[in-house]
Amino acid sequence: MRKLGIYVQVPFCQTKCTYCNFHTGVVASSRFAPYVEAVCREIREHRDLLRAAGVGEDLAEKAHSQEWRCHEAVLDTVYIGGGTPSLLDPAHLQNILDAIRETFAGSLEEVTLEADPETVEAEKAAASGRMHRRADIYRAVPILREAGIGNISFDLIAGLPHQTKDSWRRSLEELAGLAPEHVSVYLLEIDEGSRLGKELLQGGGRYSAGAVPSEDEMAEFYEMAQKALGAAGYHHYEISNWAKQGFESRHNLKYWRREPYLGFGAGAHSFSGTQRWANAHDAAAYVAAVQSGRLPVEQQEKLTADSALEEELFLGLRQLDGIDLARIEQEYGVTVMERFDPLAAAGLVERQGSVVRLTPEKLSISNEVFVELMR
Ligand code: SF4
Repeated sequence: MRKLGIYVQVPFCQTKCTYCNFHTGVVASSRFAPYVEAVCREIREHRDLLRAAGVGEDLAEKAHSQEWRCHEAVLDTVYIGGGTPSLLDPAHLQNILDAIRETFAGSLEEVTLEADPETVEAEKAAASGRMHRRADIYRAVPILREAGIGNISFDLIAGLPHQTKDSWRRSLEELAGLAPEHVSVYLLEIDEGSRLGKELLQGGGRYSAGAVPSEDEMAEFYEMAQKALGAAGYHHYEISNWAKQGFESRHNLKYWRREPYLGFGAGAHSFSGTQRWANAHDAAAYVAAVQSGRLPVEQQEKLTADSALEEELFLGLRQLDGIDLARIEQEYGVTVMERFDPLAAAGLVERQGSVVRLTPEKLSISNEVFVELMR
């Protein structure tokens, strides 16, 4: 049975982190309520809005069919991300979850709420479930545990200014001591989208740009994380993700497995299986569109067989279990095995029958594999 995931984007933050390249902003809290109202309305009216605009027709059609709702694909995961969704009032979070429950068939088997440790309060933890200092983490975890939340995930960024091997080792040790069920490790992205990235690319020194570790150091941090998390009993299941057995993110697995998901809120992305579309990034433009009864979509793409195949390979390879090339060849009517010959010869991928996977020792240079694959 196909399962549907829902993503809700909350693009507001308490402050704008210098290294962040997401479309998020700091706004007056008076803008939260109209935004949440727009999200709830988009959720409740999405089928008619999509159908009227001819977007995601396959999904909209299926969503209208009783048979699909009951037997084929039902909602099982909700991910409220951002931004900092934990900035919202508990009542806002509740309204969003209520709108989802009333609109979709299925049960919420996994609900994820992204939070800045500084914003975690008992009331919010009970409702659902960076500027922060280390102490905020030690304060937030017991609050969440006390609220009965048995699945906590930490995000770590490798490559922040002033990070050293020692400070990174201590972070990993402290994380293991706090024993979250899930861990994501991201390498700092250096691009024009963040203030720090821009400064670095322009050769400037603001935002401690001069203290950003080198690419080699970042690769070393990643390898240290691989070792430390493995030793602490975490299973490495995706390039950036580790979990205690059974706590792999069901929602995020849908992205890598190309399963359908619907995104609500400014900048949220959706995928029907054959089409991708994205909402307006600007929160004010998004709210205005929903308030006037328009679909807030600003980009849409019908996937060609070639782009679907590329996605299969890139998203599939991100998972440490690898991909079954025999299935892909059969599904797409193509031959792809030999594309992996040079990568296997260079030791970048491993083969077992028709399954190919990234070599664990070479994961820190996985980008090279993707570049090679595109040649
Ligand atoms: S809290 Fe997260 S989303 Fe918000 S600015 Fe910082 S890194 Fe970006």
